Amino acid sequence: MSTNKNEKAPLGVWGVNEYGYYGEFGGAFIPEMLYPNVKELQDRYLSIIREDDFKKEFEHLLKDYAGRPTPLFLAERLSEKYGANIYLKREDLCHTGAHKINNTIGQILLAQRLRKKRIIAETGAGQHGVATATVCALKGLACIVYMGEKDMERQAPNVARMKMLGAKVIPVISGSKTLKDATNEAIRDWINHPADTYYIIGSVVGPHPYPDMVARFQSIISEEIRKQLKEKTGKELPDYVFACVGGGSNAAGAFYHFLDETSVKLVAVEAAGQGIESGFSAATTQLGTTGILHGSKSLVMQTADGQVVEPHSISAGLDYPGIGPMHAHLYNSGRGIFLSATDTEAVEAAKELASLEGIIPALEPAHALFALRKLQFKKSDIVVVNLSGRGDKDLDTYMKFI
Ligand SMILES: *Cc1c(COP(=O)(O)O)cnc(C)c1O
Repeated sequence: MSTNKNEKAPLGVWGVNEYGYYGEFGGAFIPEMLYPNVKELQDRYLSIIREDDFKKEFEHLLKDYAGRPTPLFLAERLSEKYGANIYLKREDLCHTGAHKINNTIGQILLAQRLRKKRIIAETGAGQHGVATATVCALKGLACIVYMGEKDMERQAPNVARMKMLGAKVIPVISGSKTLKDATNEAIRDWINHPADTYYIIGSVVGPHPYPDMVARFQSIISEEIRKQLKEKTGKELPDYVFACVGGGSNAAGAFYHFLDETSVKLVAVEAAGQGIESGFSAATTQLGTTGILHGSKSLVMQTADGQVVEPHSISAGLDYPGIGPMHAHLYNSGRGIFLSATDTEAVEAAKELASLEGIIPALEPAHALFALRKLQFKKSDIVVVNLSGRGDKDLDTYMKFI
């Protein structure tokens, strides 16, 4: 339904344009049946999230429910090791253990204002499913989560959490029985229940306005970083911000208020899996080409004839064959520095953080931590690493390596 109306958008404009494009990426490539839902969201999301009443409730829940602001912690032993001032943005301390709750709080408030009664979501590792089930319980809304059967076996504790929170978890048995199949199933559900259902997408992916909307909800991360750096160092701008990228929501949030500050280097770290050339990788910018995935035009890991390639990463949160359109644009334009870390490198970095700082990170941000080794810092550099989640969910995996 959508065509690219923005082929000539100037680089250097990092936000989304009125057609939902970041440079050449983005848009809304959706089946006709979904047009009314997506159009309603496109027309209303900005005015709703700008209402005083919305802002007040969003801020209240971020503070008193999710536990914000999260600390910005100067990791002294890590800093000494890498020869820079390394600060950790502690999203791991959020309620439910990761940044995902920032977005699900925002979207549930939006769904309420659109008078939707039934919430659907897709989940891979179960983290987004848990964050969605959490806010549905909080608001008393019905919650249906689609999850690949294979992921349900791999992530049994999160399935139990969702059930405890009252969500219905529907196993998806099509395709590879993982995240991309769960996403297809959620879209199918939405098509069948267009009037009463709201689809909470968990990252900066999907048709416009989801990438922009999710980035705005997560932008609280960089808003706080600026304020906290100012208090701690006297200046608001770091030299580097590091974040891991699955779909790209924690990175979008950590980068957001620095996008136009070109002195700040934005470092996005993808999962190389067993190695970029191994056939078992999720490093989309290295392996992907332009294509359409889940309603938007972006970089996608696909075969020459457009079949999506099964990704691989040790971390379920980075195991996605695409990347949000904002990140595709940051990559193509050179504004972002894209690095990667392998499965074993991520585990090594997680062990290092645990032993140097007493913090066990999730496998996802462990990829970003490993990438600290790939750049040369000056002693005076201020480096922020977005610690997107905590490692409790990954202890079994870590134990296999110890
Ligand atoms: C889901 C998840 C990610 C990956 O998702 P993004 O949208 O790329 O942020 C990263 N870290 C943690 C802890 C997650 O749960």
